[in-house]
Amino acid sequence: MRAPFFYKKTAVVMAIVVIVLSTATLSYLSYRYTVGGENKVDTTLLQQNISLVEQTVDRIEQKVIDNDRILYDMTDVNDPSSWPEVNEAIKKADLNVDQVWFLKPDGTVLHPVRSLPQAFQHSLRELKLNQMRLDETNHLHRERGEGYFFASYVLRQNRKGEKILVFYQMNRDKLIAMIDKFLRDLSPKHYVSIVDFENYGVYQAPVNRSVKYFYERRFPSTFYKWLLQLVPRNYTEIERDVTNRRRVNFFFIVLSMSLTLLSLAIIYIAGLRERQLAQLKEDFISNVSHELKTPLSLIRMFSEILVLDKVKNESTKQEYYGIIHNESERMSRLVSNLLDFASLERGAQSKNFEQTNIARLVTKELEAYRYQVQKEGFQLLTRVDETVPDTLANPNALTLAFFNLLDNSVKYSGDQKQITVTVVQTNGFVDLSVKDCGLGIPRAEQQRIFEKFYRGTDPRVQKIRGSGIGLSITKHVAEMHGGQVLVDSEPGFGSTFTLRIPIREAAGETRVTSDE
Ligand code: ADP
Repeated sequence: MRAPFFYKKTAVVMAIVVIVLSTATLSYLSYRYTVGGENKVDTTLLQQNISLVEQTVDRIEQKVIDNDRILYDMTDVNDPSSWPEVNEAIKKADLNVDQVWFLKPDGTVLHPVRSLPQAFQHSLRELKLNQMRLDETNHLHRERGEGYFFASYVLRQNRKGEKILVFYQMNRDKLIAMIDKFLRDLSPKHYVSIVDFENYGVYQAPVNRSVKYFYERRFPSTFYKWLLQLVPRNYTEIERDVTNRRRVNFFFIVLSMSLTLLSLAIIYIAGLRERQLAQLKEDFISNVSHELKTPLSLIRMFSEILVLDKVKNESTKQEYYGIIHNESERMSRLVSNLLDFASLERGAQSKNFEQTNIARLVTKELEAYRYQVQKEGFQLLTRVDETVPDTLANPNALTLAFFNLLDNSVKYSGDQKQITVTVVQTNGFVDLSVKDCGLGIPRAEQQRIFEKFYRGTDPRVQKIRGSGIGLSITKHVAEMHGGQVLVDSEPGFGSTFTLRIPIREAAGETRVTSDE
């Protein structure tokens, strides 16, 4: 029989390779997709942070520029007598101004008549006053060493055509308070800070630049020595979320891959089993055919001789009749074994239970059998405990199982032709044992011999007729009665098979047990 394509090794290996490769590819792609998704989340979060920083910087700048416009409007360069008053009014207004200075373009102070702060003096030299355009507000911002001196200034011209430089010197604390109004709302959800170029915290402590989603931006035209820094407060949570999600996805990828591989392994093993079973069935058919063929050809041969009346001697005739009788009996045993096997497979024999005395059943069956085995040179010993109680059993099935054990002990005895049949009662069971002193069974095969169609691998066993269903039937019968078959064997020293049947009574009857 040829193996179907499905079982062909190369086809199976090819299918497995294809499935493993596609699973691996799918897993890789889903992993890539997961990581891609995370990157997208990262980019979005960073983008959000960037736009928040830029919006906030722009809003603060705009506020300073709006203030500049008010200051400009409040200042009249035509009337120097109004300057002290203007100064006071501006200082009182909520415009963060400490002092308004009126200067000539060459730096000479017109009002108030006092010396300029040092930071102011230094800066004045650096400002390119002659290149300044009229009425355009500019900003001056100094480093920490000079107290972050900050001023808005504008070059104006009075009616007489004189150019006057107006400086609005700002108060640092008030500026920070103004900035705080913009940043306060961000604090619950963000780490926010303003630092100078030396990373010194002007507003709150500096933020760690190496953390994820960090972004900073310099104020472009007002506080141009400062940077606004921002990072989401829950960035660790976001990170943890992303890591957890990655772990879960990874777990599912590994799980699905393992399940696929597991299913493959199961399919492969099932295929292998199927192949083994197909092989066993094939052997079974050839064994059974062989078993039927041998007695059939003997019957045919001897009956032909008798029909043609070729034998004149009466005792030879009797011998031939005997052979024909024995061989036909062997055939009918085999056929009924096959039929019983089929009905056991269908579960048909699990009915027909009745009160049975196993000791009496064995003694009765042995009566007829003893003569037959003794003729073949066997010594048959029996040790049957007649006191074993009746039990609920199917007598036909038990007889079948018993004969299978007996038949095997005859077949596999080799030259040690001694068989012992024992029936005893032990702890609620009846043990029916058949012991021989023959070939024995290797330990590795002692469980497999109960599988249907399985035959021993020993070449001596292979030469002996058999179909591999006898022990499977016996096991079936034992289990049908709630019992089991035990084997105790050693190669070269023989085997003992024990059919262990529990003692059960029909409903309503009282059990009488007498343990040995
Ligand atoms: P069969 O005898 O037709 O091969 P069984 O199912 O009765 O099938 O037995 C299965 C196998 O168990 C045999 O092929 C043989 O290898 C082994 N076996 C069974 N009984 C004995 C025994 N009494 N001694 C040695 N081997 C045995």
